[in-house]
Amino acid sequence: MPLIPMVQCLEEAEKGGYGVPAFNVNNMEQIQAIMQAAREVRSPVILQASRGALQYTNGVYLKHLVQAAIEENPDIPVVLHLDHGNSLESCKRAIELGFTSVMIDGSHLPFEENVALSRQVVEYAHEFGVSVEAELGTLGGIEEDVVGEVQLTDPDQAEEFVERVGCDSLAVAIGTSHGAYKFKAEPKLALDLISEIKRRVGIPLVMHGSSSVPPELVERINKYGGKIEHSYGVPIEAIQQGIKNGVRKINVDTDTRLAITGAVRQVLAENPAEFDPRSYLSEGRKAVYEVCKERMIQFGSAGHADDYKPMTLEDMIRRYKNG
Ligand SMILES: [Zn+2]
Repeated sequence: MPLIPMVQCLEEAEKGGYGVPAFNVNNMEQIQAIMQAAREVRSPVILQASRGALQYTNGVYLKHLVQAAIEENPDIPVVLHLDHGNSLESCKRAIELGFTSVMIDGSHLPFEENVALSRQVVEYAHEFGVSVEAELGTLGGIEEDVVGEVQLTDPDQAEEFVERVGCDSLAVAIGTSHGAYKFKAEPKLALDLISEIKRRVGIPLVMHGSSSVPPELVERINKYGGKIEHSYGVPIEAIQQGIKNGVRKINVDTDTRLAITGAVRQVLAENPAEFDPRSYLSEGRKAVYEVCKERMIQFGSAGHADDYKPMTLEDMIRRYKNG
């Protein structure tokens, strides 16, 4: 099946009342791990690449790795999404590469500028049938060059924003945070705010910075020579409540990074004479697979891959034209 638009994936999730994990990808092993998990539990897939990932892979390698993934798994619906696009140019580049969805993150800008930039991307992307995620409110933590102060999303502003921008989904700030060092204690998230925003905007909501930072993954890294400070992530139960309240896409990056790092460290620590990358990368891949499979089950997307009658970007172009 060709790549499907994000709109279809999130509409299916809305129908089924589940959330879809969106995993960040940079290399072959991560993509293979996600696809293996999806095959086994029959989950739709959102692969997302940041601007850093496009730089790392020169874009073209990533594009063809994703092509390989859909060729190998013709019966799994896959969305390819740009994570944290920061300009019309970065979104254009992703659309040229064949992405079926882009995020424009103007959340650090003053409201009016965020509206203007996001609107510009919506107008451009919809011409190609490409879905757009915009963001209002700011998260804490660090994600590559995304650094921020926390400012929760305001429901009044969200309603006006979505109406003026015409985006397909909205990333909201409800107290989550980017990166591995999220919280010093079990976090309190503004889960009621999700229901309120959802009621006001109607479109599917997105949670960023939603890794759970499981202690066992951090401990594995530290046991084999790593030095990751212990911290708290977003509890799975909080994400599940968020899904009940209207979240349909949940971004997970840190957890798979921790998983691959711990596995690679263990192989190298236990086998100091090892120098075949396949031996440690296959263990890393297995660890990523386990996290992905677990999240697909926990967020409820498992079992839904076969619901899809795949839509194309041409279908979406017609739909956007007809308003
Ligand atoms: Zn993010």
